[in-house]
Amino acid sequence: METPSNTYDFIVIGSGMGGLTSALILAKENHRVLVLEKNHQIGGALQVFSRDKCVFDTGVHYVGGLDKGENLYRLFNYLDIYKDLKLQSLDRDCFDKIRFEDGSEYKHGQGYENFAAELIRSFPDEAAAIHAFCDKIQEVCGMFPMYNIDDVVIGSYYENPEILALGAWDYVCSITENEKLRNVLLANGPLYAGEIKSTPFYVVALIANSYIKGSYRLVDGGSQIAKSLVKRFRERGGEILKHKEVISAVYNEDGTVKGVNCSDGTTYYGKQFISNMHPSLTIDIFDPSRFRKVYRDRIKKLENTVSSFMVYFSLKEKAFPYFNYNFYDYYTEDIWNTVEYDQENWPQMMYVCTPASSKSDTHAESLCVMCYMSMDEVKQWENTFNTIAHPDQRGEDYTAFKRAKEELVIQRLEKKFPGFRDGIINVYSSTPLTYKDYIGTPEGSLYGIKKDFRYPEATIVNTRTRIPNLYLTGQNIVFHGILGATIGAFVTCFNFIDYQRLITKIKEYE
Ligand SMILES: Cc1cc2nc3c(=O)[nH]c(=O)nc-3n(C[C@H](O)[C@H](O)[C@H](O)COP(=O)(O)OP(=O)(O)OC[C@H]3O[C@@H](n4cnc5c(N)ncnc54)[C@H](O)[C@@H]3O)c2cc1C
Repeated sequence: METPSNTYDFIVIGSGMGGLTSALILAKENHRVLVLEKNHQIGGALQVFSRDKCVFDTGVHYVGGLDKGENLYRLFNYLDIYKDLKLQSLDRDCFDKIRFEDGSEYKHGQGYENFAAELIRSFPDEAAAIHAFCDKIQEVCGMFPMYNIDDVVIGSYYENPEILALGAWDYVCSITENEKLRNVLLANGPLYAGEIKSTPFYVVALIANSYIKGSYRLVDGGSQIAKSLVKRFRERGGEILKHKEVISAVYNEDGTVKGVNCSDGTTYYGKQFISNMHPSLTIDIFDPSRFRKVYRDRIKKLENTVSSFMVYFSLKEKAFPYFNYNFYDYYTEDIWNTVEYDQENWPQMMYVCTPASSKSDTHAESLCVMCYMSMDEVKQWENTFNTIAHPDQRGEDYTAFKRAKEELVIQRLEKKFPGFRDGIINVYSSTPLTYKDYIGTPEGSLYGIKKDFRYPEATIVNTRTRIPNLYLTGQNIVFHGILGATIGAFVTCFNFIDYQRLITKIKEYE
């Protein structure tokens, strides 16, 4: 066991986007930082896997805010990782194509002018509603610090709390009677698991704005973000240990955390601790009795976003074109009720993409599909656990379940792309259990804690906890997504680094 003399300034638990970014920001400030990761591969949802010479992303398909001068571009430049990334800009006139069962198709373009123009072409009588939507998105984003770095005002949405209570669906209904347009404006709801009953408009605004301002694929996989963060972190003296599952904490007499215990019997000591784990898991590991009951109850009661069934296809050479945009395919007109889907008609929503590969920009070597799936569907296997670090089998019935679901997805694809089946080499899939086991999110949730306009403040989680030297970071803090978790890491680090000084440095990257 290591002794307290080997004490780190910071110990970060979890190497997801938020954990790695926090670790690098602190290492850049000359702190001694250790990252502990339970998995074999670092990166959390940035992890990839390889089959049949194809690289498959598990949790990042495209990233927004990466045009020159936009927020993620500036943050990645500050972190000095932008230069390492192999990026593919999605089609400027169509980064997302929305398709309905009736055969109608619509495009979302990049840049507000393009975005509005493409939609007005499809809905010529709805120009006022389309412009109102674009204006509202930009107005709301203006209230969120770090989403508009140049005019950053801390706490501005606190001064306008009504914005957190505005429902996205209600807002869209208020600007247009046209049901098709409502669906089209909110069609990339799977980026945040949009639901009529709960999703706030600010969630739509923060996500839509980032993709309108620069949508990119990561060529050969999103793990390059994690690799680059690790490279810069190690250059600054940072340490990362894999296969280190933190299971409990040891405390000083004054109630501060002294160290964390890992499942392999090791203990690591630090002055400050940052958890990149889901807040609910953090409470369990750091001893529920040390948190206020009211806080514990609130966090435990918060709903998480739905999980997903992912299908990954390796494809025969030149069998299928590369599409430089994503497809959102709907098999219902009731698109914002697909989270609570009808099992008989599953999948009612499919996100489809051809990942960018350095091998070809005309043909796809693989295809990836995401459909909503609830943990309830795989409940009978909930006591199994299977990762690379801890391999196990879930059984033949689980395999049969996956094969049946894959077949339903293939049937849908075959209708949209006749002959698709003939081009398949192999099919792989993952369920909510995969995400639960690898990432540790409750119910294998896609994006962590669900934001809800009915209880806006209850769904906002602070970076500080009752334990004086335990902080939180990751997708549950500010927002999910690569942009959201990156911003969350900065917000966590503002507890230790002067806010104005850091912002001034970030602003230098225009
Ligand atoms: C299917 C899917 C598709 C997505 N698509 C996109 C997309 O296209 N674009 C986009 O921007 N975002 C996308 N996202 C969201 C985005 O990937 C996440 O919001 C973001 O990566 C989460 O980062 P995080 O910092 O919260 O860390 P997480 O990714 O949640 O990682 C947490 C880390 O903590 C580790 N950990 C947990 N418990 C322990 C423990 N006890 N001890 C040690 N380590 C532990 C985990 O192993 C993991 O590495 C997608 C997510 C999913 C699931």
